Amino acid sequence: MQRWRLGSLLCLAAVLVLAVPAALIGETIPLTVDATGTQQKLLRVHEVIPVKSGPLTLYYPKWIPGEHGPDGPIGSLTGLKFEAAGKTIPWQRDLLDVYTFHLQIPAGVNHLDTKFDFIEPEGNSATDKLMVLEWNAVVLYPAGTPAQQQSYEASLLLPDGWKFGTSLPIENQAGNRVSFKPISLDMLVDSPVIAGEYFRTIDITPAGEPIHHEINMAADSAAALNMSPENQKQMTNLVAESGKLFGVRHYRDYHFILALSDHVAHFGLEHHESNDSRLPERALLEPSSGMSLGGLLAHEFVHSWNGKFRRPADLTVPYYEEPMKTDLLWGYEGLTDYLGPLLAARSGLWTPEQYQDHLASIAASLGPGRPGRTWRPLLDTAIGEPGVSGRGWQNWRRGVDYYEEGDLFWLEVATIIHRESHGQKSIDDFCQSFHGGANRGAEVKTYTFDELVGALKLVVPFDWATFLNTRLNSTSADAPVGGIENGGWKVVFDGKPAKSEGRRGGPGDVYSIGFEVGHDGAVNDAIVGSPAYQAGISSGMKIIGVNGRVYNPELLEDAIKAAKDTTEPITLLVAVDEYINTFTINYHGGQRYPHLVRASEQPDYIDELIKPRIAVKESSPAKENK
Ligand SMILES: [Zn+2]
Repeated sequence: MQRWRLGSLLCLAAVLVLAVPAALIGETIPLTVDATGTQQKLLRVHEVIPVKSGPLTLYYPKWIPGEHGPDGPIGSLTGLKFEAAGKTIPWQRDLLDVYTFHLQIPAGVNHLDTKFDFIEPEGNSATDKLMVLEWNAVVLYPAGTPAQQQSYEASLLLPDGWKFGTSLPIENQAGNRVSFKPISLDMLVDSPVIAGEYFRTIDITPAGEPIHHEINMAADSAAALNMSPENQKQMTNLVAESGKLFGVRHYRDYHFILALSDHVAHFGLEHHESNDSRLPERALLEPSSGMSLGGLLAHEFVHSWNGKFRRPADLTVPYYEEPMKTDLLWGYEGLTDYLGPLLAARSGLWTPEQYQDHLASIAASLGPGRPGRTWRPLLDTAIGEPGVSGRGWQNWRRGVDYYEEGDLFWLEVATIIHRESHGQKSIDDFCQSFHGGANRGAEVKTYTFDELVGALKLVVPFDWATFLNTRLNSTSADAPVGGIENGGWKVVFDGKPAKSEGRRGGPGDVYSIGFEVGHDGAVNDAIVGSPAYQAGISSGMKIIGVNGRVYNPELLEDAIKAAKDTTEPITLLVAVDEYINTFTINYHGGQRYPHLVRASEQPDYIDELIKPRIAVKESSPAKENK
């Protein structure tokens, strides 16, 4: 998740202390969301909050779990009205925190009728044919009681004929009205609903697996729901492989919620018993469908164990107004980003070659593609998450590197476990120990840095604290490729593009002349120190001409290749702030694409790590649910 907004944290602390609860703890709050106006991008909300007389403070969720920042969509809350005993109750927003509302409840009033509308932000969660409802967008809750101790009874009105899927337990369904069983606020917020006109559910529970798993898909067209039998089998394998990796599950059943649309934001958000993943409409019809499913859904699924069940104590807060500390995101997101592709490869969603190209592209982007490493340690990318953002200049800012650097860093951990245990232990032993324990449903077990170090030591004795601190605080220009090298491989650059493009695949000009350029010529990122940067080009400019001709990507590619055999510079015509400049780049190294190649003196442990742990005959074809 990369949406956030600056919050006033110090001021908020004062708000929390001053909040006087006039809501009655223990009574269930009925919450009705009328989504019949979804196609007009409006959700209508009605809550009946039990209250007593006196001051009342209500919160709109601010720090959303999994988003790692104070980015609850408060700007879309509109039409707010409170009524009690037939009279309007006035409200005032807190002077220091826009997510907080203050009211004075008159004597003799015991229920507060609360109504508001949520404007579906355009392009985010709803189209004419589908919607994904994250409950944090449509709930106000009384201050002073942990979310786990507040009870909600939610109902949802859907457009006629729409079907839906969710991990929320259902009380009953009549016509287009769905009533859910009473549930705690934290589980309500943790259990999104997907609904749509074009809807399909596929059972992907592996043979012999006692816990039910299904995919709930809604799309902007019927055709987009055609997940291939091969992908269905690989998704079933993913569930089976997760069972082998972790040994236990921490949920009652599991729903992969998948929205397929070009008109929703594309991201994934993890939950204990489901994940909210959103891909382009035709993602399942493309040759790269396994790559998309393995890249996004496997990551979000791993979060059920790593992030939702085992969660950094700093990121665990009692309710959504309390700020989170994000310094352990390299564990929460970094380990997940390593294990997601690992499971994608073990389940067949990714080929071994795609996995190798993925590692090569990350190693390149975090090595020669990341001069920002020299000023900003990995740890700071985690700590800075809630407030530090910005467009362009990613190579110098670093942004959310705690995700992808986690792939390399935790691969190195996996190879150290293998080496130090003389092949007796693996990363699987760590996962079974760290993420293990009885299945008590959606439970949170927090950890600190020291507890993580202790858990690693339990698997194999090693100075893990020094290792982790070195990696976290390094300002070396080089990517941490120890795991790749320990695994018997190395990163090389040559003139041939990767056959299977990883998440960071793309043109060969990033590691050659040194910028990432869009199809339209926009320079998304110019690598600080690269030949293009030295010539004067930077992020935000637009290339409009190459060697005297109007720009197109092929022309630039040809120019880079041709310059290899001459001493002539490459000349680019570049627009910036309505001015046009000419830049000459003296680069003669040809195109450079990253690859992983075997270092033959070492045994191959990387392929060993991604081999399937289940016998193929154990997996069964997926079943359609009506
Ligand atoms: Zn994640």
